[in-house]
Amino acid sequence: MGQECRECTEGEVRELLLRAGLSAGVLDGELGEGDQAFADALHLLTRMRFTPEESRCYWSEIIRHMAGLNLALGRDVGLRVAVCDYFMNLHPRMREPVIVEVQLLLQKERGALVDELTGLYNRRYFNDAIQREVERFKRFGQQFSLIMLDVDHFKRFNDTYGHLAGDEALKTVAGALRETARTFDHVVRYGGEEFTLILPHTDAEQAVAAAERLRRAVENRPVTVQDLSVTLTVSLGVATFPENAINARELLSRADEALYEAKLVRNRVCSYLEKSRQFPRAPLGLTARFNGPDQISATSMVLNISFGGLLCQSSAAILPGTRVEVVLATEHSGAPELRLDCRVVRLQRESEGGPYEIALSFEAVGDAARRALVRLAELDQSAGV
Ligand code: GH3
Ligand code: MG
Ligand code: MG
Repeated sequence: MGQECRECTEGEVRELLLRAGLSAGVLDGELGEGDQAFADALHLLTRMRFTPEESRCYWSEIIRHMAGLNLALGRDVGLRVAVCDYFMNLHPRMREPVIVEVQLLLQKERGALVDELTGLYNRRYFNDAIQREVERFKRFGQQFSLIMLDVDHFKRFNDTYGHLAGDEALKTVAGALRETARTFDHVVRYGGEEFTLILPHTDAEQAVAAAERLRRAVENRPVTVQDLSVTLTVSLGVATFPENAINARELLSRADEALYEAKLVRNRVCSYLEKSRQFPRAPLGLTARFNGPDQISATSMVLNISFGGLLCQSSAAILPGTRVEVVLATEHSGAPELRLDCRVVRLQRESEGGPYEIALSFEAVGDAARRALVRLAELDQSAGV
């Protein structure tokens, strides 16, 4: 890709896609906000994924390339030909492209993301959607919440009324969830009689209120079986990103822990309470360098990290109470370092002569630092939820 990249606008790209025959409805559904629209537009045409930044550059080059092709051939070659020629011959990223009808492709892809019984999204969709929310947090600092929900005593229901009635009951529960959720919430059948909801732009308090609405909605919609009206109930666990977790997988297990708590009573909502805000957290390939007032300078391995603080292994001892600046770095070249003011809260070692474990708490972690922390960790890339 050329170094110089002419600025092109989302409007320009949208206009090109419309001229290429894509409907406004498809574009509204497929193109994300801001620079993400450039990446989504390329994905729409090529099914290849690029970052928003590189996509923007690709688009400006494609537009230039299309003008060149039009001039050389004396006719309008169209957007698809220009994109195909660009990625095959100018900047080879495709080897064996196929031609498909975009509407058919979208239909097929959507089908693969929807649960047949309930019509809700399936787990495959969930994995992408939660990752998109984590990305959105990294870019815009927008928090979100997750609700995990499990039907109470569903085995008993099946045993009493039969599996077919059980299927109908799951449809009724799904209907109640879909109608109670807000339009921008993602309602997912996670598997069996378990459901999850991703609530964008939602803090813990709002998520608990939403979960309570869902709980009531299910309770107030009895299932009709053999002329009987049977009330089903659900238990719900709530967790919020990034308060309760630093990546998608962790968020899921926090919501699951909360659900477990709710199940102790059933037909209730529990939110993840951070029993220990500090540790344990997911392990990272991070190193920490300490810059202290007493010229403490040691590099150590980060064992765990959260928004509350971090746990390191170091050959040098730093006494509890000491204030240090911790410089966090990854092995990835080019990744920026992150500097955070910390205080040592614990120092211990397993054996004489062995390495020290140093627990540090962050003095103040602002929004920008939290986003940087998530970005630096890049844990979510391997989330594989
Ligand atoms: P708890 O309140 O602790 O959640 O109890 P439970 O009985 O709901 O939990 P358990 O996990 O023991 O049972 C879940 C049941 O859900 C067992 C399984 O047969 C039923 N189930 C899972 N998927 C389906 C489905 O697609 N259709 C029907 N009819 N039943 C299903
Ligand atoms: Mg279950
Ligand atoms: Mg259950």
